[in-house]
Amino acid sequence: MGDEQQPRFYRHQEEWLAIAQRLKLTPCPHCQTVGMLIRHGTLSGFDDTNTPRQTLRARRIFCSNRHRRRGCGRTFSVWLADKIRRLSLTTRTLWTFLQHAVVGTIADASHATNCPRSERTFQRIWKRFDHAQTTIRTTTSRAA
Ligand SMILES: [Zn+2]
Repeated sequence: MGDEQQPRFYRHQEEWLAIAQRLKLTPCPHCQTVGMLIRHGTLSGFDDTNTPRQTLRARRIFCSNRHRRRGCGRTFSVWLADKIRRLSLTTRTLWTFLQHAVVGTIADASHATNCPRSERTFQRIWKRFDHAQTTIRTTTSRAA
C-alpha cells in the first residue's frame, strides 16, 4: 500500500509500454480490483514555450465497469516525467506541491516545497495539473 503515495510517472516510451503490458496484473488505485484496467486515451496541453501545438502530458487509465466488467469506472493518470522536467522541478518537489495544493492554498503549497520559485510559477503549474485534481485528491487521501 505504500505505493499509493508515489506519483505515477513514466520517463520514456519503453517505460510506458512496460506499464501498459502490466495493466491486467495491476490493481486499480481506487478500488484495488485487479484485471480491469485499460488504456483510456491521453492528456495533452500547451507548454510554456511559445510553440502553438499541444504535446502529450499524461496517459489515462480507466478501471472498466463496462460490458459487465467489475471495475469502479474511475480513471487515473500516469504522467510523462519529461513534461515535468521541463518545468525545472524535480518530481519530488512537484509531488509535494500537488499534495499540499489539493488541501490548502497555492501559497502554502509553494512554501512547503522549499523551492525558490515565485507563487505565480506555482499558480501556473497548478492550473496545468488542475484537471487531474480528482486523481490527486484520491491518492492523497489514501496516503493520509
Ligand atoms: Zn477501480
